[in-house]
Amino acid sequence: MFNSEQIRSDFPILTRKVNGHQLVYLDNAATSQKPRQVIDALSSVYEQFNSNVHRGVHTLSMEATEHYEDARRKVAEFINAPEPETVIFVRNTTEAINLVAHTWAIQNIGPGDEILTTEMEHHSNLVPWQKVAEMTGAKLRHIPVTDTGLLDTSQLDQLINEKTRLVAVVHVSNFLGTINPVKDLADRAHAVGARILIDSAQSVPHMPVDVIDLDCDFLAFSGHKIMAPPGIGVLYCKRSVIQDMEPFLRGGEMVREVWFDHATWNDIPNRFEAGTPNFADAVALGAAIDYLNAIGMEQVRSHEMEITKYGLEAFQSLEYLKILGPADHTLRGGLIAFHSTEIHPHDLGTFLDQKGIAIRTGHHCVMPMHRKIGLPASGRASFYIYNTTEEIDLLIETLKAALTYFTKGSSS
Ligand code: PLP
Repeated sequence: MFNSEQIRSDFPILTRKVNGHQLVYLDNAATSQKPRQVIDALSSVYEQFNSNVHRGVHTLSMEATEHYEDARRKVAEFINAPEPETVIFVRNTTEAINLVAHTWAIQNIGPGDEILTTEMEHHSNLVPWQKVAEMTGAKLRHIPVTDTGLLDTSQLDQLINEKTRLVAVVHVSNFLGTINPVKDLADRAHAVGARILIDSAQSVPHMPVDVIDLDCDFLAFSGHKIMAPPGIGVLYCKRSVIQDMEPFLRGGEMVREVWFDHATWNDIPNRFEAGTPNFADAVALGAAIDYLNAIGMEQVRSHEMEITKYGLEAFQSLEYLKILGPADHTLRGGLIAFHSTEIHPHDLGTFLDQKGIAIRTGHHCVMPMHRKIGLPASGRASFYIYNTTEEIDLLIETLKAALTYFTKGSSS
């Protein structure tokens, strides 16, 4: 049973006031807040078994290793990865994608090959592929986005062809909110012998994601967006794809044997975790997963759908704001981006902050898509398990007050 009050009471930060008002945190797509259970799990590392992992025979080191590997097992189960070894701990989604770009991609992509992304990618899933194209002589192509914020799949037969080596696509857009048909794209990619990478930064924290069902080759997400601390992220790779991949970073722990002039590589996942890993935040990520599992990811998704539906309807009363992305809440994740011809988003963001409401304003690291629709920036309210319809009411009310304030010059 989904109990908002109970959930909210687990998040200490939600009790704080901002500018004299109760905090309304609607910037979850940027980063999420952390429940007491995650904060405690992080403290417990430093209070009880802090020690380097995989290196010691002493008790603390063995305990730290056990907790770290336990976190890996939890992540694997959470995304239904077939084995924990296919889960590589990295810093964040950006590092996960760069890892694939600088290992698998440069080893498998060559001149004349094609890399396919979409027009709605976060810079993290675009700029690395620009570099791979430059390094390998491959061509970078993009699936267009329709006026309604969906992927235009009408030209997919041409876009995914025998030259395509990789399809790199965002699962849920952090700008338009669109949920993309990644399973279908995976089938199409595999049908021409290409691989698929899914940027799951905005999906894994908010809905059930099953890597076997999606049949993806790579999947990336960030811990800080799923209630864990920043500095821990995940790259899932199919074993058959990374088994023989060259390492990304070189140094301790990723080696099997080292001589003065050469070295051999450890097995996965260690081969891709050079140096001391961020075991403390990995343990906290495990606690975040426990927390979400206790609620159930289906419940998380349906709560966010409810809030998003409510928000989409409520925004209709704001004639000066135009909502971006698909109109149907079932086709979107839990976020709503909007723009206004009357008021700059930064002014709106500042006005809302004065009332304790945190939203994101700017290009949200999706500059090309903003450019395509002729906007320098937009506003974005994004939701998580602790948000309520009352908070949406407050947002709408305050956005109404902002119009009065900015267009009539009176304070409210
Ligand atoms: N991809 C998407 C869709 C995102 O929303 C984000 C962050 O906002 C990223 C990638 C990058 O995540 P990180 O900054 O944690 O690497």
